[in-house]
Amino acid sequence: MDDRFPAYRGKMEYVCLNCGERYPIDRLLYACPACRGVFLLEDAGFDRLKERDGASWRKLFDARAMTRRRALRGIFRFYELMAPVLEEEDILFLGEGGTPVVEGAPALRKALNARFSFKYDGQNPSASFKDRGMACAYSYLRALVRMHGWDEVLTICASTGDTSAAAALYGAYVGDPIRTVVLLPQGRVTPQQLSQPLGSGAAVLEIPGVFDDCMKVVEHLAEHYRVALLNSKNSWRILGQESYAYEAAQWYGWDLGDKTFFVPVGNAGNITAVMSGLLKLRQLDIIPALPRLFGVQSEHADPVWRYYSRPASERRYEPVTVRPSVAQAAMIGNPVSFPRVRALVERYEAAGGSFGVVQVSEQAIMDATITANRHGHIICTQGGECLAGLLQARADGLVRADEEALLDSTAHILKFADFQNHYLTQTFPSEYGVTPNPDLANAPRLVMDAAEKERIMARAKMAGANNDAPRAFAEAAAAAVAKRLGLSPLSA
Ligand SMILES: *Cc1c(COP(=O)(O)O)cnc(C)c1O
Ligand SMILES: [Zn+2]
Repeated sequence: MDDRFPAYRGKMEYVCLNCGERYPIDRLLYACPACRGVFLLEDAGFDRLKERDGASWRKLFDARAMTRRRALRGIFRFYELMAPVLEEEDILFLGEGGTPVVEGAPALRKALNARFSFKYDGQNPSASFKDRGMACAYSYLRALVRMHGWDEVLTICASTGDTSAAAALYGAYVGDPIRTVVLLPQGRVTPQQLSQPLGSGAAVLEIPGVFDDCMKVVEHLAEHYRVALLNSKNSWRILGQESYAYEAAQWYGWDLGDKTFFVPVGNAGNITAVMSGLLKLRQLDIIPALPRLFGVQSEHADPVWRYYSRPASERRYEPVTVRPSVAQAAMIGNPVSFPRVRALVERYEAAGGSFGVVQVSEQAIMDATITANRHGHIICTQGGECLAGLLQARADGLVRADEEALLDSTAHILKFADFQNHYLTQTFPSEYGVTPNPDLANAPRLVMDAAEKERIMARAKMAGANNDAPRAFAEAAAAAVAKRLGLSPLSA
């Protein structure tokens, strides 16, 4: 097998989506110096990639799936499509990418009368898809450090929990000269998410408010101080996150024409990346047709849905004030990447694709999350949001029962264990507007209390059989368990 590092080098440039100005990539830029618009990174040499036909690209990426070359084992399997300016020595690999696509459990598909699979992006190193973007952003940062000989780099990000976990993980792995700072909305990330940057040794700073408040602070810092911003405003993150689309296409044998993708939308970096990736695949004829694409938003944080739910002539973008959402990682009222979405949707539709946004209730998100996980899935609340989005789209007649949907479960269930526990123990805080279904309640049940255990052990000791006390307890506990379960002993 051809196991060489790719020879192709592109000519990447920051392209302002507002005024069209282009800037070289020898430094970190987040917003257009001329007009403050957001960027996408483009390879000015992209047309050269068209010299190779679709079949040949497919063959290359399929062969590369078996590589032993570390730098190409993760998201950079699709090197030529993402950031073909990075040198092999700068590329990080912490095990990101290659996440499994797991078909909806048969009983669940039947009960919901829908066909779907989840892509478990929670099986990335820091347990969310953010690792895809972070692997790319930190690889680029390493290249900058090497080129400029910097001896200190302070990275900073605002986060709903997962960006900070990923930033801190990659920062800790790279080590000197990187130092990681994360800014969190106090009380608005889960305890598991909070433990991640702390465990990685990042400086964790909190302010009162929500994500949108933190974002404004880090934007100000990035403008006035020498810090490296790691939010998805940083377009290197978008490139890395395109790998989700490439992997999904490869999984389905490069045939997505009959598929429908559902992606949760918060700051809108992920849906931007998915669209951008799919468009590149189409431009190079690697896929014969684009899948249908739906963004999903909670009714408690739905600015993108509000925009697209109006007729095209009446669309006006307005940030919203968010309310508490169980899809907390997407609880964002003023998505930084909204201009990217608007630009890419136009291109997506021009290339024959269809795009829509569905809005779902908090109740629907929680019911979908718990129900899916009760069927052997490991989806986070944002994955549940996608499933709720599919059901909503089915109810609205937008998706047929026989259409296969790919649902992005963006994080691991364990990050959102508290929401699950609130639901299963019927103790949901009222601000979310979720009423748990009592049929799904579940809680541990004590089969024997400590006092009873003491009594059994003491009785066995009194009978003079000191060594038999633990056995007496084990037998009594087994009998109590059997009674609970209605088991009858095997007849001798
Ligand atoms: C960040 C995040 C989202 C939202 O993605 P955006 O790119 O901000 O739209 C959704 N789910 C999870 C688990 C996340 O961490
Ligand atoms: Zn501009």
